[in-house]
Amino acid sequence: MSMIQKLSLTLSIIFLIFLVTITMIITFSFRDSGINSAQKRALLTSEIVKSGLTAHMVNGMMDKRTYFINQIENIEHIDALWIARSPSVVKQFGKGFNNEISRDKIDTMVLASGKIKQEMTETASKSTMRMTIPFIATSFGETNCLSCHSAKEGEVLGAISMVLDVTDVRGSSFITSSYIAIAIVILMLLVLLTINKYFKPYINIFYSIKDVMKAAYNGDYSKRVDEQNLKENKSVADMLNSLLEKLQKVFDEIDKKVYIFVKNQDKKISNDPLININNTIDQLSEIYKFKQTIEHDKGLEHIYDRLAHVLKVKFKLDDFSIIEADTISGLKNVVYSVNGCHCEVEKGSCRADRIKSIVDSTIFDNSCSQFNKANLNYLCIPYSISNELNIIISIITKSETESLRVRNLVNLIEDYIATAQPAIVSKKLMQILNKMARVDQLTGMYNRKYLDEFTETAIPQALRTNTPYGVLMIDIDFFKMINDTYGHDVGDEGIRVVSRVIKESIRSSDIAIRFGGEEFIVLLHNCDKNFVKEVAEKIRINFSKQKISAGSKSFTKTLSIGTVMFPEDSGSIWKCIKYADMSLYYAKEHGRNQVVSFDKSIIKDDSMQDSF
Ligand code: GH3
Ligand code: MG
Ligand code: MG
Repeated sequence: MSMIQKLSLTLSIIFLIFLVTITMIITFSFRDSGINSAQKRALLTSEIVKSGLTAHMVNGMMDKRTYFINQIENIEHIDALWIARSPSVVKQFGKGFNNEISRDKIDTMVLASGKIKQEMTETASKSTMRMTIPFIATSFGETNCLSCHSAKEGEVLGAISMVLDVTDVRGSSFITSSYIAIAIVILMLLVLLTINKYFKPYINIFYSIKDVMKAAYNGDYSKRVDEQNLKENKSVADMLNSLLEKLQKVFDEIDKKVYIFVKNQDKKISNDPLININNTIDQLSEIYKFKQTIEHDKGLEHIYDRLAHVLKVKFKLDDFSIIEADTISGLKNVVYSVNGCHCEVEKGSCRADRIKSIVDSTIFDNSCSQFNKANLNYLCIPYSISNELNIIISIITKSETESLRVRNLVNLIEDYIATAQPAIVSKKLMQILNKMARVDQLTGMYNRKYLDEFTETAIPQALRTNTPYGVLMIDIDFFKMINDTYGHDVGDEGIRVVSRVIKESIRSSDIAIRFGGEEFIVLLHNCDKNFVKEVAEKIRINFSKQKISAGSKSFTKTLSIGTVMFPEDSGSIWKCIKYADMSLYYAKEHGRNQVVSFDKSIIKDDSMQDSF
């Protein structure tokens, strides 16, 4: 029901109540005044009858009184009139020829009590008032009743009863009420018309504003307030409409501008642009904070840690790996993993990296051959960082719903990767440069610079944790001859063959260093003397079997190796290296192609002996 209808209904009800009340008041007041005037008429008539009867009595004409009574009864509005004598009068004068005795209960009661009685009778077509008035005997006044009646002062001599027609009172009250009702109805119509004419536009604009505001509250700023004919309404509508237009424009602008910063905006989470803008700004601020933080991170591993933190905390991923893929060498390197990398990416190729799109095991089972854990779902997402580097985020999911959730996160994760991209590229470059400065170009082994750093950082730690190292000093026997016989390039190949044999004979936790021309140092992590000897022999024998090609010919060479135990033989790593060198020298002196473990007896230098 509209506001106008409600207002009209309320006013109609008020007018109706007013109408009924007024009608009732008029009816009752008319009735009261009608009855009052009827009472007065009745009293007057009774006085006239009393006086007339007294006159008839005094003049001795009581037998002529019927004419008089009939005349009175014929007066308009008097329907009936009769006289009732009291029992004492009946006793004294008889009933009279008209049988003037009590006709009903009212007569009897009035004759007994001496009090006026009155009774109204209403039918559909007529209203009458019956009134019975007593005649009281008195010796006072103009006529002494007691002179004729043998009665006491104040005794009831008789009663006059009249039935008066008061229908006209009802009729006139009905007519008056009708006029008033018509007036009220006309007034009501006028009021309703006025409301309709003057209030309807205001109510309509109120409803239009309400609709527009409701839509705006739900995020729809495209609705406008209906223009109204009234001047005031039009200006209100214009003001509101231009405000809404401004808001809509601003929101569109913000949305477009923010989109530039956050390329992969989250799906619109609401129809309300304000909520979406707020959400995007939240995202922007988080990404900005992330950017600020990684810019101050020292190394690439810190950036990966930070990225992993975002994946864990913001995106609620609890099992994933971050994999670096070198696009030039094809090497893959797991740089971060929560529960260890579940695929064997480091051993071979990566499908997501190769096809440059998401690999999702929930869409196609067994899509990647490197992933061999049947009970886990995986979703691997490749991101390009530079021409030389891609990053693959391999996420393990335990259900299809989780996979679907993760798929929806891909673009958001990309925002963070894109933000981290410049820092990753520059840190990667630094890492490569640092590595290059520490790696020997000919063999790919670490160089002396690396050994210097390693001894500074890892050796004190090894001492603290009581972790032993086996130190191997390796030198090619009669190497100069290769250079002299086959040339420098074949000599280089000989050095490469040694380095390959060394790499193949040691564990990933061991460190191989090209110490000088054709001299190598190997640091065997956490081992005993026997193991050191074993590894050294393995290297020596394996190398002696290697054929080094020189054009159409090939030849074999041998190695001499000196070994020492750190910190068993000396607490100083550099002294250990010196002892290894001494042992190597000893091996050279005693026939070459052999492994010599350090022993005090090897030391020739007295100063060294002292310090030993
Ligand atoms: P020994 O058995 O006593 O070790 O005899 P040797 O001939 O190997 O003697 P030495 O170890 O002193 O020889 C080192 C030679 O290695 C000297 C140098 O010309 C050569 N050399 C050093 N660096 C390189 C290199 O990078 N490439 C090549 N081809 N030769 C190198
Ligand atoms: Mg040599
Ligand atoms: Mg040498």
